[in-house]
Amino acid sequence: MNARILSEETRERDRIVRLSRSLHERGLTAGSSGNISARLSGGDAWLLTPTNSCLGELDPARISKLDGQGNLLAGDPPSKEAFLHRSLYEARPQAGAIVHLHSTHAAAVSCLAGLDPADCIPPLTPYFVMKIGRLPLIPYHRPGDKALGEAIRELAGRHGAVLLANHGPVVSGPDLEGAIYACEELEETAKIFLLLRGAPVNCLTAEQIGELGAVYKLDR
Ligand code: ZN
Repeated sequence: MNARILSEETRERDRIVRLSRSLHERGLTAGSSGNISARLSGGDAWLLTPTNSCLGELDPARISKLDGQGNLLAGDPPSKEAFLHRSLYEARPQAGAIVHLHSTHAAAVSCLAGLDPADCIPPLTPYFVMKIGRLPLIPYHRPGDKALGEAIRELAGRHGAVLLANHGPVVSGPDLEGAIYACEELEETAKIFLLLRGAPVNCLTAEQIGELGAVYKLDR
């Protein structure tokens, strides 16, 4: 491994620790829930937060390093939800990082009856449209059920983010900051969606969404 790749890995480990701590301090994760990953350039290796770790207290040296098949190369054993990340990376080559949280408001929306499974949070703001777009709902699977990975793989080619029913969001981005900002936008929009329930709402129209796509060159 050359020095450039080693220093990129070191920087990425430090970035995961810093951004994870920020999420934890702001109440977006609790206990040992949530996991974050980032692909390393120059190969198929990627980093993932370890199993049973608190995102507020990660040790950069103990973050798991995995190969493209999910085998552990270095660090502590990875999150048990590693297969969610691997499935999304396989289906979405442009994804450089993935954030999975059990954040309160997105998790609350994931428990609502009567959601549109093809688009479970409406286009309430242009920021949600730009960072998330259409958000499909994946039906409930018990924790660890590998069929969940298959369900993600089927949708991730067309969607950078999915919501797992009775669980929480899985959000990808071009890099770590991009994935985290998108996941935070989803959480904030979920909060707005819940605040507005029962009230008449003006959503963005198809024309307004089309205009955003054209002006900002959205790929979804
Ligand atoms: Zn989870």
